[in-house]
Amino acid sequence: MLRIAIADFKQESNSFSPVPGDWPHFQQSGYLLRGAEILDQLRGTAAEIGGALRVTDPRRDIEIVPLLAAGTGASAGPMRRALFDALLSDLLDRLRAAGPLDGVYVSTHGAMVAEDLDDATGEVLQAVRHAVGPNLPVTASCDLHANVTRRMADAVNALVGYQTFPHVDLDRAGGRAMEILLATLAGAARPVTALCRLPMILPGENGATTEGPFSEVMREVIALESEPGILSASAFSVQPWLDLPDVGCSVVVVADRDPALARTHAERIAGLFWDLRDHFPVARTPLREALHRALQSDRRPFVLSDGPDAPSSGSTGDSTEILKALLEMPFDKTALLNIVDPDAVERAIRAGVGQTLTVSVGGRLAPAFFSPVEFTGTVRTISDGRFTHKGAAYRGVEFQRGRTVVLQSGPIFLMVMEQPALQWDPELYRSVGLEPADAQLVAVKSPTGFRAAYAPFAAEILIPDVRGIASPDLLSFPWRRIGRPIHPLDTLNTWRTPPIGGVFIGSL
Ligand SMILES: [Zn+2]
Repeated sequence: MLRIAIADFKQESNSFSPVPGDWPHFQQSGYLLRGAEILDQLRGTAAEIGGALRVTDPRRDIEIVPLLAAGTGASAGPMRRALFDALLSDLLDRLRAAGPLDGVYVSTHGAMVAEDLDDATGEVLQAVRHAVGPNLPVTASCDLHANVTRRMADAVNALVGYQTFPHVDLDRAGGRAMEILLATLAGAARPVTALCRLPMILPGENGATTEGPFSEVMREVIALESEPGILSASAFSVQPWLDLPDVGCSVVVVADRDPALARTHAERIAGLFWDLRDHFPVARTPLREALHRALQSDRRPFVLSDGPDAPSSGSTGDSTEILKALLEMPFDKTALLNIVDPDAVERAIRAGVGQTLTVSVGGRLAPAFFSPVEFTGTVRTISDGRFTHKGAAYRGVEFQRGRTVVLQSGPIFLMVMEQPALQWDPELYRSVGLEPADAQLVAVKSPTGFRAAYAPFAAEILIPDVRGIASPDLLSFPWRRIGRPIHPLDTLNTWRTPPIGGVFIGSL
């Protein structure tokens, strides 16, 4: 019998968010599962652990030891250190209490930062490695926006990234990490890792794998993975709002027993990725122009991508920019918006369904970026805020967003939530009785992840020029600690430029 421990610990941090990652981000915007709850909740889902279990479930000779699954669909600033330490201790206590193990699989994001701890993912993976010793196989999966550090790559036998953005292959990444773990245990593979780090950060809007420059990189990555001797290939277009000395895009190739093969291909793909760096900046439509186009069209729905306020990119989800502009425009077609404001939720619940009230909403969590707006609306629905994804990303996983109300003011339906929520799935709106396909305008706080579910029915997707903590205008941020030189803050000729750029071969 093989005994394999599994764990999931992820948050995506944004250095420019004034809101630290704290317990509610996991308890009310994500999931926090322990022991057997993990199997109950994640088996059969499209999450990483769902994919890993699909690999192990048919095997009667494998016992899965579930440790901890802590994830948040809403990112924030760096995590409170006490929260990070508590979750990591919980994970490690369960790992030590697990008894004899043959291997460990850890699902991570890879861009998690805690207070006074820049490389929190590396800390988790190193702690797992330390707990199990140097010889036990450990594999990990990462989001495509991971900041893959040398420390992370050194801690595990193999590191597997998502190959899609919008992310629709979380389960594939988890399944692949598990397959490599099992092959290693069987002696059928001995993974060796080459990590190329590129001194560059890129906006997310043009980072899709379905079209545009990053799709060219990913095509090579996916083709490589089917070549002999290659166990896994990944390219990471890093979460760019990380003001850290050691941040950059990367390419990871895991080969079987052949470090030179891993290195050759990793360097080749890193070169291709680097050569495309000037193709990533995104054209944005002035906000009022975008709203006019959406509201005057006889097609629907127009989806407005508010990436700068994407909770999945670490923003607060309480930007009022689009709402403010809409309130100043006469129109009669339905518009769906959402915003975080626990006080407004409380007041609306006290007033009750059918009552009309005036509240100041949003704009409080990040005053450097957003400001509140006065909104008079009628309370249409009140709910506990739970919703389950139905699209390819996290299908079957239940997310929370705290108590949630819908306020209606004429054609504007404003969903107000206690906590920020992942915005990739139309269930965000459908779960409170609002149908995005029937609306004229739908605001989605996501740069790209929403496209997988929304593009099939959207008349058009627009990227309005709005401010925010996750703006694609990377030159506009007050960078203080970021490692220099780095593209696009500096002009560089080669991705091999130190201190960030270079090739590292994993030591395991
Ligand atoms: Zn991502």
